Amino acid sequence: MEQQTHILVVEDEAAIRTALTDFLEFHGFRVSQAADGRQARQRVAREVFDLILLDLMLPEIGGEELCTLWRRDGVQTPIIMVTAKGQEKDKIMGLDLGADDYITKPFSLEEMLARIRAVLRRTDPARAVGQTFAFGDLAIDMAALKATRDGRDIDISKREAGIIQYFAANPNRVVGREELYREVWQDTLTDLGTRTVDMHIAKLRAKIEPDSAEPKIIQTVRGAGYRYECGKQEGTM
Ligand code: CA
Repeated sequence: MEQQTHILVVEDEAAIRTALTDFLEFHGFRVSQAADGRQARQRVAREVFDLILLDLMLPEIGGEELCTLWRRDGVQTPIIMVTAKGQEKDKIMGLDLGADDYITKPFSLEEMLARIRAVLRRTDPARAVGQTFAFGDLAIDMAALKATRDGRDIDISKREAGIIQYFAANPNRVVGREELYREVWQDTLTDLGTRTVDMHIAKLRAKIEPDSAEPKIIQTVRGAGYRYECGKQEGTM
């Protein structure tokens, strides 16, 4: 089994910490938490993480100081700095301290996920690529944005990957267009949005269904939405 990517979430606001943890675990990461700078420093001294999400404003030891201390101590773990200030000066300072990227609050969880993947790819391309999960009779590699069937690679877009991921997490039930649009596009459905969803599903089917005229993986439920059929051809991954 592939080893899970282990992320340390350093955040003093419990609600944000919990939301980030749930979201990242849902996306297959292993997550540990630290609620202040001191806890974070202790954890990093004991364990090796693959990535640290570091809030800037923290009790005990602030994010900037932590970053400086870790880099001085030779900790090479990629760090994404989370800043609420949103000032250019702070962003640049964060990067000067040795952070690999920064993100400004408020951020969407999808944006955070994209940043994490980008940093992981950049810092260790070998790790993120090659981890797959089963979707129908396909193996999906989210990091490489690739679907594979019988050894044949199919390129998928980021949006298509998001759609696949949502269906994979919600198998064998009807997913309405409104729900899909809300979860994948992070927006409220409009008429244009409805067409956008249908267009993306059609494009995705053309890529991944053996016969897109008779879709078996993502089925249409008339008047209700779509359903990912899973179980009859359960994968072994
Ligand atoms: Ca904070």
